[in-house]
Amino acid sequence: MTELLAADSAGIARAAALLLGGELVAFGTETVYGLGARAADAMAVARIYEAKGRPRFNPLICHYSSADAAFGDVLENDMARALAARFWPGPLTLVLPRRPTCQVSLLAGAGLPSLAVRVPSAAVAATLLAAVGEAVAAPSANRSGRISPTRAEHVMAELGGRIAAILDSGPCPVGVESTVLDLTGPPALLRHGGVPREAIEAAIGPLAEATAPAAAPRAPGQLASHYAPALPLRLEATGVSADEALLAFGPPLVGAGAVFQLSAGRDTVEAAARLFDGLRWLDAEGAARGLRGIAAMPVPGDGLGAAIKDRLARAAAPR
Ligand code: AMP
Ligand code: MG
Repeated sequence: MTELLAADSAGIARAAALLLGGELVAFGTETVYGLGARAADAMAVARIYEAKGRPRFNPLICHYSSADAAFGDVLENDMARALAARFWPGPLTLVLPRRPTCQVSLLAGAGLPSLAVRVPSAAVAATLLAAVGEAVAAPSANRSGRISPTRAEHVMAELGGRIAAILDSGPCPVGVESTVLDLTGPPALLRHGGVPREAIEAAIGPLAEATAPAAAPRAPGQLASHYAPALPLRLEATGVSADEALLAFGPPLVGAGAVFQLSAGRDTVEAAARLFDGLRWLDAEGAARGLRGIAAMPVPGDGLGAAIKDRLARAAAPR
């Protein structure tokens, strides 16, 4: 059962408590309804992908109640400060390097060293985020491949029964997604949205043209924004040697030089939550022990297994 919460103080308090407890809560922002989870909780973030039926782990936007809170998780620069002063709270998302102290799960950022952050202006969303007091990861609250919802009824129709609650703050005033701007290098527009390009250029000068929209499908290995380990990755391993590190799913193959268990009980949600930590750990451990590669055990293709297989295939693609 999905609770439909009124956007009053009791409803907001309930939504905050559910989020802090690791549950999924959809909430309205000025752009569209977001499907929120506590960003530091990798299992909760994995359930976002499961509820949406997303076939791959795209990085999610983390939502904060203030620029100070957002910049507590990412390293801001002068441009980010100027843009935050001009457009936050509002429909602008900034991609910046994660701080070493950032508690956001690697899964929320799809394993990337950067993180997309935003401070929404919608009053109910801002109050909710302040009540949660930490980053809330939230993609649009629709099933994968469907259009973004701008009313609580849309969310209920798509995700009712799959999420804990919907905080109903009425229709979203902007109705299109946030503009996504990458500030990890020369500023580049990754997605057009609620803040027009001209307004951003008026604040910080001309923007580099992103080579292609971040969301556009590209061949495995070509996607600029995807994490891959430095060690070669071998898929569908049914045996392993002592000079390989093993990404295990279920009872591990015997004889590996290092083992990271994704899920002993073969649970794809748990495996998704641990995937990027596992790849990073095996990459570092493998290098430290002089291993020649990482062998990944087969993962079933159902549920979140499809997204795990997609990400492993990208990580294994020739670079
Ligand atoms: P959504 O969560 O569906 O609103 O989409 C988030 C958008 O932000 C997508 O276009 C992502 O590709 C983009 N995005 C999020 N995090 C990053 C990141 N670390 N680097 C590049 N793009 C990002
Ligand atoms: Mg979306």
